[in-house]
Amino acid sequence: MTVKTQVACDVRFDTPGKQRGYLRVPHSHNTAGWASLQIPITVVVGKPGPTLLAFGGTHGDEFEGPVALMKLARELEPEAVRGRVIIVPALNLPAVRAGTRLSPLDGMNMNRAFPGEYNGSVTSLIAHYVTNVLFPLADIVMDIHSGGRSMVFYPCATLHRVPDDAQYARMLAAAKVFGARYVFMYADIAGEGLLPVQAERMGKLVVTTEMGGNGECNPGVLRIAERGIRNVMIQQGLLDGVVTAPDYEVLTVASTDPADYIGAPADGLYESFLEVGDPVEAGQTVGQVHFPEQADRAPEPVVARSSGVLIGRRAIGATSQGDNVATIARPVQA
Ligand SMILES: [Zn+2]
Repeated sequence: MTVKTQVACDVRFDTPGKQRGYLRVPHSHNTAGWASLQIPITVVVGKPGPTLLAFGGTHGDEFEGPVALMKLARELEPEAVRGRVIIVPALNLPAVRAGTRLSPLDGMNMNRAFPGEYNGSVTSLIAHYVTNVLFPLADIVMDIHSGGRSMVFYPCATLHRVPDDAQYARMLAAAKVFGARYVFMYADIAGEGLLPVQAERMGKLVVTTEMGGNGECNPGVLRIAERGIRNVMIQQGLLDGVVTAPDYEVLTVASTDPADYIGAPADGLYESFLEVGDPVEAGQTVGQVHFPEQADRAPEPVVARSSGVLIGRRAIGATSQGDNVATIARPVQA
């Protein structure tokens, strides 16, 4: 079936071997009327097996995913692959170039743009292509996120509790083998249109992460990301080898209650009392908001409503009312 899309792709997905090329997204602008945005894509087709589709740079200020996947794309050879690996290291390339969460071309969040539009703005065109061309090719969809400039996470593999029990069991097993300390079950508290949700609805084994943050490419976090990606590929039969187990126990935690997500009570400067990974008790003051215009005013406390571990916190001091400043993940059996 031919899919109607405005995005052109100059690699073929069924040709054995390794190909590098571009997704060409029409982008007409003031200094180039006939132009396209060129997003690098690598396809490695080896022996028969499953298809892994891996994305980095869905948000442009999260760098471990793009770096890990560019390295993987350079290293992978078809002789070593059982199946097919499709890698797009910088899905929202304009945002990655700018180092911003949102695309500077249309202000859109790639991870709220799904399923996309046939004739929308650049971000919508990319999302539409992913939904209608790339997702149908894939068995496993990997989307490597970090906290970005605004957040820091304790590195974790993340997942939703999808309704299909068999799909969920496969996703949970992959999240565990990824080998970050936490498998983090999360809720969508800030809108719809997520890439992983679209892939989940299409029945894919979806692997997502929150690797660190702070707008950096952290060397320790990058090692966890690289090991995790390879571990999942080995578990899924795409690569030979042995899964590299971490030297700590992998724990499953959940922030599936809105109370687990704490927003700033007021504009000001946020001071976190805790670092990610620290234990938290319900009722504990985890931080406070200072008021730089009223230096004598007592800070406003930020109080946890659940007990567990601080899985994520705000990375930027200057904070607006309603910005997420702390996320508490509760231990769960899974
Ligand atoms: Zn992200």
